[in-house]
Amino acid sequence: MHFGEYDSPLYRQVIQQFDAVKEWTRVESGVLERLRIPKRAAIVTVPVRMDDGGTRIFLGYRVQHFLTSGPGKGGLRYHPSVNLGEVAGLAVIMGWKCALMELPFGGAKGGINCDPSKLSLGEVERVTRRYTMEMIPYIGPMVDVMAPDMGTNEQVMGWIYDTYSMHMGHNVPQIVTGKSVLLYGTVGRREATGRGVVYCIEEAIEHAGLSLRGARVVVQGFGNVGSVAAYELFMRGAKIVAVGDVNGAVLNTKGLDIPALSEHVKRGNLLGEFPGGDTLRPDELLTLECEVLVPAAIERVITGDNAPKLRCRVLAEAANGPATVEGDRVLRERGDIFVIPDILCNAGGVTVSYFEWVQDIQMFFWSEDEVNRRLRDLMRKAFMRCYDFAQENTTDMRTAALILAIRRVAQEKIQRGLYP
Ligand code: NAD
Repeated sequence: MHFGEYDSPLYRQVIQQFDAVKEWTRVESGVLERLRIPKRAAIVTVPVRMDDGGTRIFLGYRVQHFLTSGPGKGGLRYHPSVNLGEVAGLAVIMGWKCALMELPFGGAKGGINCDPSKLSLGEVERVTRRYTMEMIPYIGPMVDVMAPDMGTNEQVMGWIYDTYSMHMGHNVPQIVTGKSVLLYGTVGRREATGRGVVYCIEEAIEHAGLSLRGARVVVQGFGNVGSVAAYELFMRGAKIVAVGDVNGAVLNTKGLDIPALSEHVKRGNLLGEFPGGDTLRPDELLTLECEVLVPAAIERVITGDNAPKLRCRVLAEAANGPATVEGDRVLRERGDIFVIPDILCNAGGVTVSYFEWVQDIQMFFWSEDEVNRRLRDLMRKAFMRCYDFAQENTTDMRTAALILAIRRVAQEKIQRGLYP
């Protein structure tokens, strides 16, 4: 198999997933081939004046999977692992996610190869502004709209908004989502992905014949997604027995006090040193016995090695691409774990990003109740589309989600025809 310029573990993984279901979609092979390869990719150099007076060159990427359904939509990641292949894999995941949620967007993703924890605030600002300026030919409110991802946040989105607006000569808040509410972001965006994860878990738990109240939950990752998911589950009476992050993990079989853990981490303490629990080896986290396992950190953590050892009933894939192809094969063979696939499970973020974009275009803003009500409605409908398809076709949720997503974009392409 040829993966070309995009060859990387994550890209290979998403293309292998695509190839595994493509016959089943019953879509003409020429259309499938167009969906298999991202539409376009930009690589830019980002030269930046550092605080010590020297100049450093960073590499910045943006990959657009398809633009058939609307502007590209997807996060911007600042991480030392960022490369073209990783960004392309994430762009493909975004494409399927937008299609599954029936949002008027194509999938896209961007990134800069850097370690933001080793840069000053001023350096991160200059990296962001120069990257935005270099990307101006490839982005726009109707072309491609960025959002936060690992290593970026509301402040970074604010700088993108400002840089783009300065170049256009007028205010363009709809160029980026995930901005602060003051800068025409939307209420409920920060919590959206974690909340969406919880809405999916509520549905899955019911279908698995379990109850959320008292259910044991393990969460990997305590950033934007993991901490909100843990909090919302805690508030619904679930027992969060273990949480881990990049530095360590903590266990309390009676249930962790999540608001206290958040406060502990917010004060700059290590998660693993939380006094309300015992230290746990991070590699023990994923295989703990629980009702719900929520990987909400990085990709490719559920592998052929640890998938046979998972002891959960529901696997809520809050992170993008948390299961490798091999890990996924084991899960499918086992058949005893209800998997909520990533493109469904974490789609709350892009869904509320869509709400933010709509509000910015209209310059008319909604209440948090309205945002959450609409989010819950769209998440529940998407969950049921996948569940019904899986039941009717005796397949798993990941296959169902992927087929529904691919078919939707393929049908759009077929009805529009091939230009010229
Ligand atoms: P974040 O940067 O806020 O948090 C990441 C968390 O993962 C941190 O707690 C970090 O310590 C932990 N982590 C990093 N490496 C780890 C490792 N090797 N082992 C254990 N923990 C590790 O990021 P986030 O926004 O919460 O995103 C988490 C995941 O969710 C990513 O896969 C991201 O692509 C996905 N996602 C995020 C959003 C969003 O709206 N933020 C939307 C959709 C999907």
